[in-house]
Amino acid sequence: MIVERVRSIDPEGHESARDVRLGDGDERVDGRGLVALPGLVDLHAHLREPGFEESETVATGARAALRGGFTAVCAMANTVPAIDAPGLVAELVARGHAARGARVLPVAAITRGRKGKELADLVELARAGAVAFSDDGDPVEDAHVFRMALEYGRSAGRPILEHPQDRSLSRRGVMHEGRVSADLGLAGIPAAAEEAAVARDLAVARLAGARLHLQHVSTAGALELVRAAKRDGLAVTCEVTPHHLSMTDAWVAGSRAFVWEDESSTGVPYDSTTKVNPPLRTEADVRALWSGLVDGTIDAIATDHAPHASIRKEVEYAEAAFGISGLDTALAVLLMAVQAGMGDIGSVVRALASGPARVLGIAPYADDAVLVDPTAEWIVGADALASKGKNTPLLGRRLRGRVVAAVVGGEVRYRDDGALKGRRRGHAEAIARG
Ligand SMILES: [Zn+2]
Repeated sequence: MIVERVRSIDPEGHESARDVRLGDGDERVDGRGLVALPGLVDLHAHLREPGFEESETVATGARAALRGGFTAVCAMANTVPAIDAPGLVAELVARGHAARGARVLPVAAITRGRKGKELADLVELARAGAVAFSDDGDPVEDAHVFRMALEYGRSAGRPILEHPQDRSLSRRGVMHEGRVSADLGLAGIPAAAEEAAVARDLAVARLAGARLHLQHVSTAGALELVRAAKRDGLAVTCEVTPHHLSMTDAWVAGSRAFVWEDESSTGVPYDSTTKVNPPLRTEADVRALWSGLVDGTIDAIATDHAPHASIRKEVEYAEAAFGISGLDTALAVLLMAVQAGMGDIGSVVRALASGPARVLGIAPYADDAVLVDPTAEWIVGADALASKGKNTPLLGRRLRGRVVAAVVGGEVRYRDDGALKGRRRGHAEAIARG
């Protein structure tokens, strides 16, 4: 099938118009109104296998990624067992191949068992197929171990992805510390818990002379530290999540208004689907993250897809697990933000394609592509999500923007023929009308 006259955006965010080939056959459909994106790369997802297959498996996660527009997805190492041995990396690679969804890129643990004490064998893990190293879920608290990780990561030719959180400050907090947490009587996680950790991480990276990637930056202050470090020439990169670019701590109190919307839709307070780490921050933080995205301080948008079985969420707010299931909804939320004028499509695509590829030190996947209908509306029902994780505060909500096809390595792995069929008719009528 050939989709004609599609608005196309390349990995660096530049636009053109072109025809897109989807598999074999010379049938032509009208692609006007559709957008062709490069294969999107998600630097940060929890696929939960091995150990938590009731929440997600490599197969369901890789399919959810593909349906969401990601043709490559990095799988975090906080499974049971943690991915800290070459055999476990190899197993993940094999499961990824078998899934035939998005490419699954294993991220191995920095320390043995993710315990933060003893470095894993980073060189061997890289040889087995690890694309990066992270103890995500936890920071590497011991600064000396962290220094060694950066140095060995450099030898292994792979980036260290750090979860910046000072646990002595975040303590038992369950949401952003501020006016809303005080109103709700919930224990807070101050912005300083992230900013203190980012400051330490940057200092150690400077000492080690090695590059560092900071995960899920969520506060204006942390972003400013990264901006200053980049200005000083430090080899630091960072990512933000779609939820930190769209939702605020008011969502914990029941708001369901994206930061660009007037307060209209409301949910219920203490809904544990809004519980995520780092927590949803303030509107000022969200707006600061958008300016960081547009000015290039932020290198990547990563989902931090954190699916959970309902049993871990359907409990009191303080007891619920942290995490939002995000692969299925990320692209729609970002396209809606762009339509609302929060940022330009070029910056968003760059942060989803060439940006994450640069963090990993790889070239964008030239044979991957995603075709999107930015006007298609859909309702986030549990059945509409390919992920096993239904834990999203967007459940029940109408979103705009849907993937209609995804190509991995030149192979069409997902195609919504229903969506494309209508365009065939429309095209034939247009020809008949002359
Ligand atoms: Zn994390």
